[in-house]
Amino acid sequence: MAEKRLAIWVVVEQNQGKLASVSIEVLGQAARLVETASALSGGVAVVLLGDQVGDLAEELSAYGVDQVYWVDDPRLKHYQNDSYSGVLQRLVEREKPDILLFGATGAGEELAPTLAARLSTGLAAHCTGLDVNADGQLVMKVPAFGGRVLGEIFCPNTRPQMASIKPGTFTVPQRRAGRGEIVREDASSLLLDTDIRLTTVDVLQSEPLGLPLEKADVVIAGGYGMGSKKNWGLLEQLAAELQGAVGCTRPALDEGWTAGEHTMIGTSGKTVRPKVYLGCGISGAAHHAAGIKDSGVIINVNRDALAPAHAYSDYCVTADAKKVVEALLEEIRRTKNEKRGR
Ligand SMILES: Cc1cc2nc3c(=O)[nH]c(=O)nc-3n(C[C@H](O)[C@H](O)[C@H](O)COP(=O)(O)OP(=O)(O)OC[C@H]3O[C@@H](n4cnc5c(N)ncnc54)[C@H](O)[C@@H]3O)c2cc1C
Repeated sequence: MAEKRLAIWVVVEQNQGKLASVSIEVLGQAARLVETASALSGGVAVVLLGDQVGDLAEELSAYGVDQVYWVDDPRLKHYQNDSYSGVLQRLVEREKPDILLFGATGAGEELAPTLAARLSTGLAAHCTGLDVNADGQLVMKVPAFGGRVLGEIFCPNTRPQMASIKPGTFTVPQRRAGRGEIVREDASSLLLDTDIRLTTVDVLQSEPLGLPLEKADVVIAGGYGMGSKKNWGLLEQLAAELQGAVGCTRPALDEGWTAGEHTMIGTSGKTVRPKVYLGCGISGAAHHAAGIKDSGVIINVNRDALAPAHAYSDYCVTADAKKVVEALLEEIRRTKNEKRGR
């Protein structure tokens, strides 16, 4: 039987033996493209680098992939730009895939452009959509001009066509019945001593408090209109009462009111799709709105009746956000107390 060409490769990310969710999200898109794009011939491969990550190779083989390229070496335990881009360059030059996809995480945002430069090809970063046109070219969709237009980027003259995809843009696909082939690569021929210029000794990670934004059914988002760190505390109380998570806009982050950059929503932050999104004191700039467009019910509280946020909301409240949040907290607590008293 003729070998199946592997047109799309997904470079997956693992941190301390755990797969990044965005890698699986991207795998789902790669599988969708090979199944639906008639102009694209070939299958899907994933590339996994790490140390003793055979169980992850097994796990990945269940997501509709034809092949898992697995490169295992103690020197690949932690992501390093030089070593990872060196291994990937040699593998890509040997196998010549058409398309190379990454998650736009901190590591992915560094690795993808480094590899693109080493391979002298193009990269579209932070894509929110992927397609294949009638000529078999990858259509990489990237929000531009603050999310007002969706630019379509092509890479017609060089290969591979490379894209990084924002975490949370796509849903995690289901595992499939069949399994892809796992090919353990000889690390010594792909990883050279000259690649090891830096070594990560250890990774210390502090766990963010509370529910991650991407997993919350209720997102309470605050903007510059919340006015102060003290008022911000009200949003945190409301999120706690509703078992939700607090998100923010860029100005609220810059003011230092928030829990950190990981809570920013929008084109340079996270994409969320909660059942309920409540925006408080947010103008509704396209940069922020792009990150919430797939939410269930969108409610915004803004004292300006003409704020752009009101235009894309299911419910608009023209009022002082602090007062509305205080009133909600009071009502929730009163109802809870009543139930307890019964
Ligand atoms: C390249 C680039 C990328 C960006 N990426 C992002 C991103 O990912 N995410 C993001 O959020 N931003 C991003 N921004 C910034 C973005 O363009 C906007 O400036 C930002 O979203 C506005 O935040 P805001 O709504 O909190 O503030 P403002 O625009 O200042 O709006 C504050 C709102 O609060 C209202 N308000 C004031 N007081 C009250 C009150 N007491 N009660 C109720 N309402 C009140 C006002 O009427 C106003 O509408 C980006 C900008 C650039 C240039």
